[in-house]
Amino acid sequence: MAAVTQLARYGERHIARGLNRLTNAVIKEGRGSYLHMEDGRKMLDFTTGIGVAGLGHCHPKISKAAADQCLSLVHGQCSIAYHEPYLKLIERLIPVMPHPSLDTFFFWNSGAEAVEASIKLARAATGKQNVIVMQGGYHGRTFGTMALTKSKTVYSQDVFPLMPGVFSVPFPYWHQCGLPSSTPTSELVQHCLFQLDLTLSQQTAPSDTAAIIVEPVLGEGGYVPAPTEFLQGLRKVCDKHEILLIADEVQSGFGRTGKYFAIERSGVKPDIMVMAKGLANGFPLSGIVSRKEIMDRQSPGTMGGTYAGNAVACAAAVACAEAFQEEKVLQNVEARSHELFGVLKGLQKDSQVGHHILDVRGAGLMVGVEFGSPSGHAHDKFRRPDAPKTLASRISKRCLEKGMFLLTTSVFDVVRFIPPLNITKEDMKKGTDIFSESVHE
Ligand code: PLP
Repeated sequence: MAAVTQLARYGERHIARGLNRLTNAVIKEGRGSYLHMEDGRKMLDFTTGIGVAGLGHCHPKISKAAADQCLSLVHGQCSIAYHEPYLKLIERLIPVMPHPSLDTFFFWNSGAEAVEASIKLARAATGKQNVIVMQGGYHGRTFGTMALTKSKTVYSQDVFPLMPGVFSVPFPYWHQCGLPSSTPTSELVQHCLFQLDLTLSQQTAPSDTAAIIVEPVLGEGGYVPAPTEFLQGLRKVCDKHEILLIADEVQSGFGRTGKYFAIERSGVKPDIMVMAKGLANGFPLSGIVSRKEIMDRQSPGTMGGTYAGNAVACAAAVACAEAFQEEKVLQNVEARSHELFGVLKGLQKDSQVGHHILDVRGAGLMVGVEFGSPSGHAHDKFRRPDAPKTLASRISKRCLEKGMFLLTTSVFDVVRFIPPLNITKEDMKKGTDIFSESVHE
């Protein structure tokens, strides 16, 4: 174990404890798939800021674009005029949107801000107030997004009141729904859609419901991909009741699941899509996209913020989109994902450790491994989302000691793999070797 440095001790004393941290060590530099620590260690980063540094830390092209932009215009002042990087970014994004009708944009700084903006827009566009969210969903840490978030039990303890008018329905995952794992996916989906119907008949009338917000892959809620049939079902319900479907792609967007956006896997068209994290590879930038007729339902002056759509962040995002194409990132995701799943599924079959692994799931390089008790009960019993994360935490700590950052999710006993999307074959092997050793130990 590395010694605690003076700087790290300073952090312990002067930084609030309101954030979970894997270690109290200090990061000095980031390069590609590695973080260099103040104490001299070089750590393989399989967390990438939870999907932020998709193209690796300090990608030369992106950093240069930001540095160049710093010399010409830092603050764009969107309230007086457009700025060039903002418009260039839209030009880059339009061709990769999941549907051509998603062609009108607005940018902010953080994911939570953009999620809140999507709700504000849905309310303005429909003239309705209520929102339906998923059990296990995560949308941020502002008051509004905490109200939308159902994967963090701690949110209900600290601060009141949160935003009213939020109703939750089960997300199709047997642990979430309290159903046995032998339940066929289709039955699970029908169960959830039935609960949604009940919610719309008993709790929030369709005439009061502005939006349903869903992560196409539950992030903090355990790395669970939404079945296509479920997303299609949500689309139908939204069409029937004139409710807007919001896809929160903050964590799953920009190539993370092997498609530009995870919702593409289902062919379902969202009415509003929220983007952040991988959009600018580490520069604070988020955005929403929708159809023009929806976006223009909000009055001028009600969208924005002092730093919203910052010029340096937008320039970085333009470079990020270019690098993404030039480096054929999606092809790399496919190849590395195949290797990663190969190793994880192999561990699941391993006679020594496989019985601890309940599930290996995800898509692309957004992959979760769920651990569970070897007692044999776990598969067929309803497990509480806040069950102790015994094995995942222990394994993540062991990986840390061996030189790799690996995170767990907020609920269930899950470790999640979120390496850079352009990670090399060698680094993927190094990471999976560290993980396999840690699981065996
Ligand atoms: N939505 C999802 C799906 C997320 O995963 C996150 C952050 O992890 C957010 C919203 C909030 O983003 P931010 O932390 O940038 O506010």
